[in-house]
Amino acid sequence: MFIDSHAHIDGPEFDTDRDEVLRRARDAGVESILNVGTGDPHSGAFERAIEFGSKQQSVYTAIGTHPHDANKYDQAAEDKIKTLSSAGERVVAWGEIGLDFHYDNSPREQQIQAFRKQLRAARELDLPVIIHTREAEQETVAILQEVYVGASRKGVFHCFTGTTELAERGLELGFMISFSGILTFKKAEDLRETARRVPLDRLLIETDCPYLAPIPYRGKRNEPAYVVEVARCLANLHQITVEALAEATSHNFAELFRV
Ligand SMILES: [Zn+2]
Ligand SMILES: [Zn+2]
Repeated sequence: MFIDSHAHIDGPEFDTDRDEVLRRARDAGVESILNVGTGDPHSGAFERAIEFGSKQQSVYTAIGTHPHDANKYDQAAEDKIKTLSSAGERVVAWGEIGLDFHYDNSPREQQIQAFRKQLRAARELDLPVIIHTREAEQETVAILQEVYVGASRKGVFHCFTGTTELAERGLELGFMISFSGILTFKKAEDLRETARRVPLDRLLIETDCPYLAPIPYRGKRNEPAYVVEVARCLANLHQITVEALAEATSHNFAELFRV
């Protein structure tokens, strides 16, 4: 049984066939999905994610303000996430949060402020965090070391595409490292080398769908059933069976998110 530890399936990309997508996931052996609500915190996006998750037995929920939307993160947004996370059913993490200096959709200073504030808020709520980081490795690690060291709940570096050094810093901080379909891409040899070095008890698998479909689905809309391809790739790298990989990553998921 597999767990897709990071997916975006409450959005319009799945409006026409969401039930079939969930059925295909089940048929492929994907027993649980962590659906991550993102978007403008004032738009109703988080409410939508929580409402969807509350109706689905197999879906857990996380909400948080993505670095892309950091310029919309204010006290009202923080209060809203706190309220929804405490009241919402099966909200298991705060995220995704972090820094994205590749797209720079929000000014970097605002990304940094929103990241710090959300880390502090997650600690207050005793929730683990889901980290998105792109082209901002040193800044991400520095902020985690400053704000998050000693936190009782840890987190995950999701859709990991960073360097081996970043993975090592993440492991030192007690974090899990989650790999997506990018791991299967032809040119991802460096990433596969990093993945080989992450211990089995710190690995997670994800789709980050609807984006980043793994080979052989590359270019199509991604969906949770395809997380099996990520598992296959990672099992090969660790020279274990896909069943053993599935068991380890599902165990890690349960441990991190306490489900
Ligand atoms: Zn992300
Ligand atoms: Zn995501």
